Amino acid sequence: VLNGTKMWITNGSVADVAVVWARTDDGIRGFVVPTDTPGFSAPEIKKKMSLRASVTSELVLEDVRLPGTALLPEAKGLNGPLSCLSEARFGIVFGSLGAARECLETAITYAQSRRLFDKPLAAYQLTQQKLADMALELGKGMLLAVHLGRIKDAGTIRNEQVSLGKLNNVRESIAIARECRTILAANGITLEYPVIRHANNLESVLTYEGTSEVHQLVIGQALTGESAFR
Ligand SMILES: Cc1cc2nc3c(=O)[nH]c(=O)nc-3n(C[C@H](O)[C@H](O)[C@H](O)COP(=O)(O)OP(=O)(O)OC[C@H]3O[C@@H](n4cnc5c(N)ncnc54)[C@H](O)[C@@H]3O)c2cc1C
Repeated sequence: VLNGTKMWITNGSVADVAVVWARTDDGIRGFVVPTDTPGFSAPEIKKKMSLRASVTSELVLEDVRLPGTALLPEAKGLNGPLSCLSEARFGIVFGSLGAARECLETAITYAQSRRLFDKPLAAYQLTQQKLADMALELGKGMLLAVHLGRIKDAGTIRNEQVSLGKLNNVRESIAIARECRTILAANGITLEYPVIRHANNLESVLTYEGTSEVHQLVIGQALTGESAFR
């Protein structure tokens, strides 16, 4: 019998099945919960200004009674949920850069066509400095992602390395999106261009799959051997 609530679950109110990790007498265990089970509800979270294309919900479980077959048989303790998280975080190492790349491509095209005084915005040194620095961070992030992909394929990747990739690539991607926004200036704040949408969505990405702060703590612990989580 499961009881509890969890805020901020992507697709929570459209899913047929929820995977729920719960504290039990036998430690942390995973459960497959059909969302039409009595006692389960998933009210939608309204007024989001970020990741508006997907539904985000609260999961509420009130005396949700499940058969023994709902229990994931092998996952015990924190390793189950953490290994799921490491997979999702790894995807974000690449995905965040996709958003940054579209922003940068948009900013370059825009700067080439927008004329200020007698020449294109792209011909001003300050614009080129911004573009060069963004291309640098995008390229470094891509190399980091490819490197992490290779060590993941080799089966040697460690959680703190995934943290490093998630922290860096989301941080740099949101910085790129915001810098591109300045190149588009007023046009940067409209949905006529993809930049403000990516910047807003990256605000969520900065928080989910481990906040930047928590990834800093993971890396800090790996470097020092000291846990600073609490
Ligand atoms: C659009 C969206 C979709 C989401 N989808 C999902 C989903 O599908 N599944 C899911 O499980 N979650 C999902 N989340 C939730 C997300 O994982 C959490 O928001 C995130 O883990 C942070 O938790 P919190 O918001 O409760 O922040 P809090 O835990 O309240 O953190 C507040 C601040 O304190 C910092 N902090 C927390 N702990 C420490 C510490 N020990 N030391 C120092 N600083 C600390 C945090 O970094 C943050 O800056 C989603 C969130 C969003 C915005």
